[in-house]
Amino acid sequence: MSGHSIGFRLTAWYFSVLAAGLAIFSVVAWFAMRTSLYYAVDDELRDRVRGVASFMNLQTASLSIPEIRDEFREHSVLGPGGDLFQVCDEQGQWLYRSVPLESNNVAIQLPRQLSKPRFETMEVERHLLRFYSQTIVNAGKIYTVQVAALMDEGLEALARFRAMLLWAAPLLLIAASAGGYWLATRALAPVDEVSLAAQRISIESLTERLHVPHTGDQLQRLTETLNAMFSRLEASVQRMKQFTADASHELRAPISLIRTTAEVAVQRSRPAEEYLQALNEILQETERTTQVIDSLMLLARADSGTAGLERSPTDARSVAGEAIEQGEKLAHQKGVGFAATLPDHPVVILADGDALRRALLILIDNAVKYTPAGGCVNVELEGQNGFVIASVRDTGIGIAPQDLARIFDRFWRADKVRSREAGGTGLGLSIAEWIVAMHEGSIEVESELGKGSVFRVRVPGAPSRQLD
Ligand code: ADP
Repeated sequence: MSGHSIGFRLTAWYFSVLAAGLAIFSVVAWFAMRTSLYYAVDDELRDRVRGVASFMNLQTASLSIPEIRDEFREHSVLGPGGDLFQVCDEQGQWLYRSVPLESNNVAIQLPRQLSKPRFETMEVERHLLRFYSQTIVNAGKIYTVQVAALMDEGLEALARFRAMLLWAAPLLLIAASAGGYWLATRALAPVDEVSLAAQRISIESLTERLHVPHTGDQLQRLTETLNAMFSRLEASVQRMKQFTADASHELRAPISLIRTTAEVAVQRSRPAEEYLQALNEILQETERTTQVIDSLMLLARADSGTAGLERSPTDARSVAGEAIEQGEKLAHQKGVGFAATLPDHPVVILADGDALRRALLILIDNAVKYTPAGGCVNVELEGQNGFVIASVRDTGIGIAPQDLARIFDRFWRADKVRSREAGGTGLGLSIAEWIVAMHEGSIEVESELGKGSVFRVRVPGAPSRQLD
């Protein structure tokens, strides 16, 4: 059934539930009618026995048996149900026997055999009769009174009712299912329209949106959700295009430079120093290109989820210590002051030491890169409310407020020339952000243009006993 349309499946469910409901209803209705039929007949039979008993009380005390029979004969034609009854005494002597019962010799139980009133149904002359036998006491003697009623009419009505149910229920079921199918396909038609419209939107026409019906129902929510999804897709496709353009530019620029340098060098013969200088330039550009490719590869693996980190309990001081050592050298080379503060007790985190050191070094390297000589860089590590926070503060050029949201974008640089001259690729912060995110942490930035910046890495701490 899973291959069928929703309309078909809904109808199939509807059909099954309705079929079960109708079947139960029909059986219950038939049994209820049959029970009420027997109930009415039995009630009437009991009444008639009561009638016979009171008649006997009044009439028979002073009469002989033939007289009683005559009285009964007279009485029986007056009462309802005709003269279908018979009465016998303890010795089995008939007090009265109506003609149809006598001619068919319908058996009766003697008073001593009948411990309690008894109903039974029997066929007499191809008619179904309901019998009721009860003992009565009259003038110190016990009699069995047996009365009968014709069931033909009631049973015929019951049979007609059953036939009606057997015909009407399937017809009703078919009609209701056809109606259900029509309703289901009608209700689902707009969903088909939405899916057709959504199919028409391709990667080239991601700016298009579906028409949103303002019905306040699931359909409106569905189209709104799809439109929101298209917006997200459009934004990420845009980012991908931008990234591809930036990446090709970043790779083409150094390769053109390598090529031009080599071409100029081989145009004519030159002194050995000039070749050496050209080769040095080529080497520098090759190193830069390798760096960009390495960073791109790491980010590509990060995106595809294949660049896993191996985290184990680590003292954050040792991770920060190594990054600080390298950062200090960079600061020293550039003439930037450098200071670091580490706690005197272990601060344990679940970390991939190499990766986290790389992230911290990116921040320290940036701080040094974007701080002019004479400025200073300050690195601090501290544990706070279950988190370990590493802050890298500089007194450098700072970041404009409108740029703060973009600095983590791939290849984004406030000043391309400055970044390039300082050896930047525009990928450092993207990599640092990914590494910190893999440690379930975050990076916050505060910055003021011309005054300096603070980058704070916050990762959850781990219990210090884990270090052992
Ligand atoms: P880059 O290789 O250019 O440094 P990043 O991704 O590390 O690339 O940084 C992106 C941009 O963010 C930088 O080009 C720079 O404009 C800005 N930036 C990052 N760190 C700092 C900082 N400490 N001070 C000023 N600007 C910064």
